[in-house]
Amino acid sequence: MMNNKGILIVLSGPAGTGKGTVCKEFLKRNADTSFSISATTRSPRPGEEDGREYFFISKDQFFKMKDDEGFLEYAEFCGNYYGTPVAAVMKKLDAGQNVILEIEVKGAMQIKEKVPEAVLVFIAPPSKEILRKRIEGRGTEPQDIIDRRMEIAENELALIHNYDYIIVNDQVEEAVKRFEIIKNAEKLKTIRNNEFILEVCK
Ligand code: 5GP
Repeated sequence: MMNNKGILIVLSGPAGTGKGTVCKEFLKRNADTSFSISATTRSPRPGEEDGREYFFISKDQFFKMKDDEGFLEYAEFCGNYYGTPVAAVMKKLDAGQNVILEIEVKGAMQIKEKVPEAVLVFIAPPSKEILRKRIEGRGTEPQDIIDRRMEIAENELALIHNYDYIIVNDQVEEAVKRFEIIKNAEKLKTIRNNEFILEVCK
């Protein structure tokens, strides 16, 4: 089959749903898909490396990049700014590579508007109680931050209906499988195989 553009996959889900773990596991097993490294104004957490989890930049740098149309989308989250550098994403998609944007809901809605063929996937917790336990269980943040994260999580959950697919993360292994099913089915959509159709029908 002839090479087509890659799929732009948006992956959202509140903190505490294990979306990062599902995403990492998925990427290990799917060489046709890569991760878009966002730029952020937040400080690195212990263990995070510049250029690996994020590009850690200043507010000035962030807004310069925004003014230069350097972001495909961007949003403020918990007092920090996050944005998807557009150039790297476009290059990968053009080369036939699928790209995952692991972003929050406001950014996801911008992508939905700008890139209608993008696939929006929401990773949900099995229940609100489990989500609360997971957010508290991290033990890395003070109580007021935990309360704020829970409030944000609830607001994010309320936007699930804007997504194309929901993956309930009850078990990582199962969640990754569901994610693979989505990607593989999307790849088979007729609209994503125009070059093949032209070829076979000529
Ligand atoms: P954290 O600070 O915990 O790494 O990320 C906070 C939130 O920002 C998460 O929901 C994460 O998915 C989201 N996020 C990370 N990068 C981006 C981005 O480039 N754009 C948007 N809109 N959200 C992002």
